[in-house]
Amino acid sequence: MSREVVSQISYLAASVLFIFGLRGLTKPDKARRGMLLAAVGMLVAIIGTLVKTEVVSYGWILVGLVLGSLIGYPLGMWVPMTAMPQRIAFSHMFGALAATLVGVSEYFTDLSNGETIGIPKMSALAFEVLFGALTVTGSFVAFGKLAEFLPGRPITYKNQNAINLGLAAVAAGLFAYVVFNPEASWAFYLMLALATLIGLFLVLPIGGADMPVVISLMNSYAGLAASATGFAIGNEVLIIAGALDGASGFILSIVMSRAMNRSFTNVLFGAFGSAPTASTRTSEGLVAAPISAEDAALQLAHARSVIVVPGYGMAVAQAQHQIRELAELIEKNGGEVRYAIHPVAGRMPGHMNVLLAEANVPYDRLYEMDEINDRFEEADVALVIGANDVVNPAARTDPGSPIYGMPILNADKAKRVIVLKRSMATGFAGIENDLFYAENSSLLFGDAKDSLQKLIGEIKTA
Ligand code: NDP
Repeated sequence: MSREVVSQISYLAASVLFIFGLRGLTKPDKARRGMLLAAVGMLVAIIGTLVKTEVVSYGWILVGLVLGSLIGYPLGMWVPMTAMPQRIAFSHMFGALAATLVGVSEYFTDLSNGETIGIPKMSALAFEVLFGALTVTGSFVAFGKLAEFLPGRPITYKNQNAINLGLAAVAAGLFAYVVFNPEASWAFYLMLALATLIGLFLVLPIGGADMPVVISLMNSYAGLAASATGFAIGNEVLIIAGALDGASGFILSIVMSRAMNRSFTNVLFGAFGSAPTASTRTSEGLVAAPISAEDAALQLAHARSVIVVPGYGMAVAQAQHQIRELAELIEKNGGEVRYAIHPVAGRMPGHMNVLLAEANVPYDRLYEMDEINDRFEEADVALVIGANDVVNPAARTDPGSPIYGMPILNADKAKRVIVLKRSMATGFAGIENDLFYAENSSLLFGDAKDSLQKLIGEIKTA
């Protein structure tokens, strides 16, 4: 069998594995297997590429393999789950950088060899470089905002939309020009420079709270750039993998923008997150009611219906195992426990599902926001564990709030609300939460894991 045939068969197998991998990710109990299939697919694709006859020497490839493994292994194994979004933004940056560099190298080599670049290939190269470069800087800003070395608030400036539109129009003009005049390298490189600026200007004005949508959008752009790379260099598996990545990132952006009440067109053009008018809400004069572990345990032990609302604080405290243990005790006492999952709770899509699955919380107790929001009114207790923004009623009532319009979990409508958090500190969006001062709310202060441990102890000894 020739090397080319082996390579094609590997590519086909890899593509099938990618598709099954993605399918697995749609169900929490199949997600691990899905990831494994996709990883095997990637290995098969790499092997299929290494046997290609175009590979002239393995020296640099080996260096890349060692370096990549040295960087990739710690990134995968040691970065905590709570830092996953910035890690993902960081990897997108490198994926997009690779696509951009391949595009530049292919263009440069073709021009230097005096080859004529046809319109289809030039379109793919220009597309790859345009989307690749803007994803590099856009992902970098998203990474910086999430890692907090750049300010999370929207950085706005005068005529921001006009400047962005102007830059995009000039870049589009250069794109069209270079497609029909491939030898105009000035236009190619100017487009590249403008794309890096567009990436910066696109994400800087977006507030930290909107970063989830930005990251999935960047994911989609990086996928499209990779797919275009596949067209430009005639690599089938790159076309397929890039298209899958681009499409799934795109769909995720739509799902998340709906969850955060952003319009689809705004997501597409990245013009979302424009600075809201300043909120006038403060906590001055409001008093939050603390509760002891003993009293909270009493309420939970007698509750018929409890809805747990997990949030980012649960991930920080790694309290998922204690939540399951507490839920089992409540159920032993005859109560029913359900989990309300907000699409952007935590710091990445599916964050809560993954953690609760790790603690073996049964999947059928997990409810998406739309399924459970009407049930809070009948719940005896809403147990809010390290969640803040996703239960902030300001999203419904305060037009000046940065999260106004974002659908929230109706925890405030439960008969009693018990909130587990360490202090009165704000959440990711940096805004006050009236829920904590509501008449039916009480706060059990402390690290969520410790507080849950105390609650478990109290119920057991009662
Ligand atoms: P928030 O970030 O709004 O609030 C988390 C709360 O957890 C804080 O109020 C904090 O209060 C508390 N907390 C932190 N550590 C602990 C601990 N050890 N024990 C107990 N409590 C703790 O979280 P939400 O999940 O409600 O909202 C997610 C936010 O993140 C949204 O604004 C969303 O837009 C954004 N986001 C979401 C992403 C996603 O894809 N899911 C990605 C990026 C951003 P205290 O310090 O007082 O303990």
